[in-house]
Amino acid sequence: MRQSLVVGNWKMNGTRASAELLVKDIIAGLESNNSGIAVCAPYVYLPGIGELVKNTRLALGAQNVADKPSGAFTGEISAAMLSEFDCKYAIVGHSERRTYYGDTNESVAARFCQAQEKGIIPILCVGETLEQREEDQTFSMINEQLDAVINLTGIASFDNAVIAYEPVWAIGTGKTATDEQAQEVHQYIRKYIAAQDQAIADKIQIIYGGSAKPENAKGLFAMLDIDGGLIGGASLDAESFLKIYHSI
Ligand code: PEP
Repeated sequence: MRQSLVVGNWKMNGTRASAELLVKDIIAGLESNNSGIAVCAPYVYLPGIGELVKNTRLALGAQNVADKPSGAFTGEISAAMLSEFDCKYAIVGHSERRTYYGDTNESVAARFCQAQEKGIIPILCVGETLEQREEDQTFSMINEQLDAVINLTGIASFDNAVIAYEPVWAIGTGKTATDEQAQEVHQYIRKYIAAQDQAIADKIQIIYGGSAKPENAKGLFAMLDIDGGLIGGASLDAESFLKIYHSI
């Protein structure tokens, strides 16, 4: 039985004070539940939040990680740096990084690798744009995004990773994939991994992201291959985020 996981992606929102308040409210509202929960905060808030989540069930994550271990890469944050702040997770390949900051399948694979080398669990985001969906390219896009990582690090690296299926057309748009649309792609991803390693496919958490909210989370999480969610907008409000988490 796979453990479920709900992760908040705060993106570039909040202030130091609001971030710390949000975390305190989330911790205070956590009911007993066997599922994992994490927040991916802006880099500069990680040290403060790291202190607040110590000895709680709430885990900490970053929204990105450098594709190189160290050196002359101005503005980048390495996996080694993140690991100093008890970062359990790092998102890699979020569609906003791919769209606005030039991340490619290859650089995302390198980020994935860097995170794992420092014991950080990468949350690999994959997903198609609306145009790609309409041209029946959803599965081929997913194949390319997964293959870039598999070709660099091997299928075994998915033993300690999370995959987030995030249809680009559903992120921040209010348009959620239907339960069946999401399940179809999650099942496809699991089968794709199973073709190379059944044990990893059975174990890996594949979470859904794209306008998930308290009203639609239960239906999505009830699907066989959906193991939780990567939550953007709704994770900025403790009550909404907790409702989503408790609907697992
Ligand atoms: C995200 O940014 O990963 C995301 C899923 O955003 P939203 O929930 O706001 O669509």
